[in-house]
Amino acid sequence: MTSALLPTYARAKVSFERGEGAWLVARDGSRYLDFGAGIAVNGLGHAHPHLVAALTEQAQKVWHVSNLFEIPEGERFGRRLVDATFADVAFFANSGAEANEAAIKMARKYHAAGGHPERFRVITFEGAFHGRTLATIAAGGQQKYIDGFGPKVDGFDQVPYGDLDALKAAITPETAALMIEPIQGEGGVRVVAPEWLRTLRRVADEHGLLLILDEVQSGVGRTGKLFAYEWSGITPDILSAAKGIGGGFPLGVCLATAEAARGMTAGSHGTTFGGNPLAMAVGNAVLDVVLAPGFLERVRETGLLLKQRLAALKDRHPGVIGEIRGEGLMMGLRLEVPNTEFAAAARDAHLIVIPAGDNVVRLLPPLIVGEAEVGEAVKRLEAAAATFETAARGAAE
Ligand SMILES: *Cc1c(COP(=O)(O)O)cnc(C)c1O
Repeated sequence: MTSALLPTYARAKVSFERGEGAWLVARDGSRYLDFGAGIAVNGLGHAHPHLVAALTEQAQKVWHVSNLFEIPEGERFGRRLVDATFADVAFFANSGAEANEAAIKMARKYHAAGGHPERFRVITFEGAFHGRTLATIAAGGQQKYIDGFGPKVDGFDQVPYGDLDALKAAITPETAALMIEPIQGEGGVRVVAPEWLRTLRRVADEHGLLLILDEVQSGVGRTGKLFAYEWSGITPDILSAAKGIGGGFPLGVCLATAEAARGMTAGSHGTTFGGNPLAMAVGNAVLDVVLAPGFLERVRETGLLLKQRLAALKDRHPGVIGEIRGEGLMMGLRLEVPNTEFAAAARDAHLIVIPAGDNVVRLLPPLIVGEAEVGEAVKRLEAAAATFETAARGAAE
C-alpha cells in the first residue's frame, strides 16, 4: 500500500517500538545499537528515567499556556542556560531552524536598533547547514535545498571555509553578522579549527559584526563541553541550539548577549508553542543530567576511546574507511565506499549510523554510552566494512 505521507524522506524499512538507553527495539523484537540518536537528539538515550519522570509529572499539571503568561519552568531553564554560558538572555523555539531564524532576525534588528537598518546581510560558509525554512536554506547555501523553491531569500553571502581574503572581500557596509557551525554536521563532521573561530571573532569585532554560532548539532554536551565554542576560547554574540537540548522533545533555543539582543523588544518576535511548560520541564531535566558533576568529563573520555578504536578500525580497513573526523561523541567516518551503502550494511549488522555530506557516515551515540557500547559499535562497524571487502574480493576473482 502506498504511504499517506509526503514522500520527502527515503525511509529505512524498519520501525521501532521502544528504546532503552542506547538500544532501539524493532517491532519484530530485534535490537539495534543506536549510534544515530535520532540525529544527535536523544543525547540521554531512550526512555531515560529522569526525563520520563519530568515529562509525565508536567503532563499531569499543565501542558501549554502560551507566552502571554509567565512560565516559571522556562524562567528557570533560561536562567540555568545563561549561567552556564556566555549569554544574558534566551529565546525558546521548537526546532533548530526556528532557533536560527531568531538568531538571524536578532542580528538584523541589532543593527536596525543602532540606526543601521541597511546592515542585514549574513556571511555563511560553504558546506553549511542551518535548516529547511526559506531563510535557513538561503543561509546554508546548498543548491539542492534551494532549487525549485522560488527566489532565494536575499541577505546571505557564502564564502569558502578558512579563506580570510574571501571573507574580507565579502564584507560590505550591508553586512550584519557571520554565522558558522563549530563542527559542520550535515556537511560531513567537518571540525572548524579553533584558530579559524578566533579569526572570525577578531574580524567580527573589527567590522562591528555579530558572530552567530549554530550549535544545533554540536551543542549540549555532544563534544564533551556544554557547547563546542568552549574549546576555542572565544564566545559568540548569538548561539542557536536544538537537537540534544530536549532529549527528544522538540525544543530549540537562541541564546544571546544583552547587547546583541538590544533590538528585540516586546512584540518584535514570537512563537505560540516555543518554551511551553512541557518542553521546559524536559529541558530542565536534560540539564540536570548534562550539568551533573563528571558527566561531560565522561563524554570526553568515551569520545577519546571511540576515536582510538575508530583509528584502529580504519587501519584494518583502509579500502573502506579513509578518514576519522570529529570531537567527543560527534564522529565521522569518511568512506572509500558509498556512505549510504555503508550505513545500510551497518544497519544489517544492527548498528544505526547516519550518512552526511562529503561521503561521511556520522556516529552520534547517546552521550550516556560507555566502553561496552563503544566496543559493540566498533565490532558491528567491522562487520559492515568486511561486507565491502568480501564483495571486492568476489568481484576480483
Ligand atoms: C539539524 C540542524 C539544523 C536544523 O534543525 P531542525 O530542528 O531540523 O530545524 C540547523 N543547524 C544545524 C547545524 C543542524 O544540525
